[in-house]
Amino acid sequence: MNFDELPLLPQLLTAVKACGYETPTPIQRDTIPTVLAGKDVLGCAQTGTGKTAAFALPMLDRLTAAPAKKKGAVRALILTPTRELALQIGESFELYGKYLNQRSTVIFGGVGQAPQVAALKKGVDILIACPGRLNDLVGQGLIDLSHIEIFVLDEADRMLDMGFVHDVKKVIAKLPAQRQNLMFSATMPKEIEQLAAGILHDPAFVKVDPVS
Ligand code: AMP
Repeated sequence: MNFDELPLLPQLLTAVKACGYETPTPIQRDTIPTVLAGKDVLGCAQTGTGKTAAFALPMLDRLTAAPAKKKGAVRALILTPTRELALQIGESFELYGKYLNQRSTVIFGGVGQAPQVAALKKGVDILIACPGRLNDLVGQGLIDLSHIEIFVLDEADRMLDMGFVHDVKKVIAKLPAQRQNLMFSATMPKEIEQLAAGILHDPAFVKVDPVS
């Protein structure tokens, strides 16, 4: 299968070609059409499988296709456990969204909040965040999550291992009930299945083997 066979916007296909990708990875092949159709997804996949493009490409497509309901509102949230992952995902959105007008920013703790708050004030469509700093900024009234259309919980098992379950649930409580949910985890222990059951609605299940 070729990327051109996926019903993605031409601007996204151009960006993907510029990255040197020729064929979608298995998780991309399975996830992209499902996300484009507006369905929830539970993905069992590790980093290295092409997971980021699997959610970023169809998200950018959907956000571009439908105008924002409220001007300036954050429309998509990607929750990820570490600063490194957040930065990597942020770079991917920049790369894949190069020919589109969606604005993204990354927020994480351990650094001053001023530059992050300044970026938020300029207006952001896509927010990539670690849970602690996100709750902090939401608590200060600096971020409104009530217009989120697409929510991604990335590396859910690591999130639980790192003790972020309370923070994650606090974030989810702030999201509107009507939204699309994507959840990715390298492993699927019982706790993850329970968490997924509370977040996802009739999800498509996508599983890929780790890259060797
Ligand atoms: P990820 O699993 O999202 O961290 O992606 C792992 C690596 O694979 C990244 O360096 C991507 O740039 C690269 N990648 C993602 N999708 C493709 C693809 N379809 N073809 C070639 N490389 C890819």
